[in-house]
Amino acid sequence: MRTLLLVPALLFATTGLAQRPKAVARPAAGPDVSMGLGRDALIAAALADISPARIRATDSTLVAFGTRHTMSDTVSATRGIGAARRFLYGELRAYSRDCGGCLRVEYDPYDVQITRFRDRPTARVVNVLAWLPGRDTTRVVVISGHYDSCICSTDQADATSDAPGADDDGSGTSAVVELARVMSKRFPKGLDATIVFAVVAAEEQGLLGATGFARRLHDEKKTVVAAFTDDIIGNVVADDGRVDSTSMRTYAVDSVPSRSGELARYVWGVGAVYNPAFEVRPTFRLDRIGRGGDHSPFHRLGDAALRFTERLEDTKRQHLGTDDLSGVNFAYVANVAKLNLATVASLASAPAPVDSVQARRDRASGGQKWNVTWKPTPGAARYEVLFRATSSATWTRVYDAGTATSYLLDEQLDDGWAAVRAVSDNGHRSLTTVASTSAPPRAAPAAATPAPPPER
Ligand SMILES: [Zn+2]
Repeated sequence: MRTLLLVPALLFATTGLAQRPKAVARPAAGPDVSMGLGRDALIAAALADISPARIRATDSTLVAFGTRHTMSDTVSATRGIGAARRFLYGELRAYSRDCGGCLRVEYDPYDVQITRFRDRPTARVVNVLAWLPGRDTTRVVVISGHYDSCICSTDQADATSDAPGADDDGSGTSAVVELARVMSKRFPKGLDATIVFAVVAAEEQGLLGATGFARRLHDEKKTVVAAFTDDIIGNVVADDGRVDSTSMRTYAVDSVPSRSGELARYVWGVGAVYNPAFEVRPTFRLDRIGRGGDHSPFHRLGDAALRFTERLEDTKRQHLGTDDLSGVNFAYVANVAKLNLATVASLASAPAPVDSVQARRDRASGGQKWNVTWKPTPGAARYEVLFRATSSATWTRVYDAGTATSYLLDEQLDDGWAAVRAVSDNGHRSLTTVASTSAPPRAAPAAATPAPPPER
């Protein structure tokens, strides 16, 4: 079997070292985190369409509505959250007209109680969704930003003062709108899985819009392949003057059986393949400490979920009247949007993740090898088995398993992890599924034994 070795090529100079003063050999770049993911020419071409000027125009319009507080005016055409959502709906409808009706645009309302406020008011929380149906309408990839804003650093319930929310989260909302424009133009027939461009509401009162939509997808028996949120993706200057416009962070929990950690590795790899100059910095944690985001409701329902966010935040500008357009770098937001597009398009082009992956110690090799088995996946042309040491943050070796649904892995899983992914005939890779190494349940246990905790 062909083996792709992805271990970083460290440059160990072997000639003349003894004669030279002590020198430290350094890799030319960081470790290879691409996991063998391929580059699709159509996706790469679409990235060039992402326009910082259009993202700025969308965000500027959102800011001009004064406030987008959840309890703000819903009737005015010029001020408040109602005007904002009608604007967003109109933009998405216009993109759909331009692609021959390829997007299904809808309001997605929920009547909820805002328990964070002392008088516990009820509110109609309205998301705006644009669906790009794929060949498979049961599998969905969700990319969201929240269009509500607040000045909740001063008064959570103040629904009338200006709350520009240019970065939080006009930036993410405008990126999602731009993705809908570019992807509907480039892929009007859709991809394999369905994509939902979602601008959601009432994030600031407890992720209420995203929670409603996550529950709805599960009630409708959709399979959520991945749920992303773009939230606070435009600031590049920290309060102390440090600047970082070339890297961004992802937040996702890494614990089996959740695939959120696998999603983080996937995004990391996609970034390295499509735009290596813009560094992805994964953090294996649900969110920043004490903070939350719209990927969380999906993660809690068991979906692979991840937050995109800027590298350097300035909390002196968040949830305040100072969160204005001067603090948003739109070239930076465009780079985040490009990473979004490459990730969403890659995942939506790929087969479903592989199911029922098991690894058993191979007796014939004296326990040095492992037998990995899995169920066939619809749409898979072949499979790949991946390995990483427990000390490695991402997959470092990829083995081609061909069309088989088993593979004798010459790696020691006492020291690492194995996973399997499906590859389509045009080279798109599914999310990885980590092999379970636990013994199968016995038919009739003598006594109830509590299950061991997940291993990581
Ligand atoms: Zn936010």
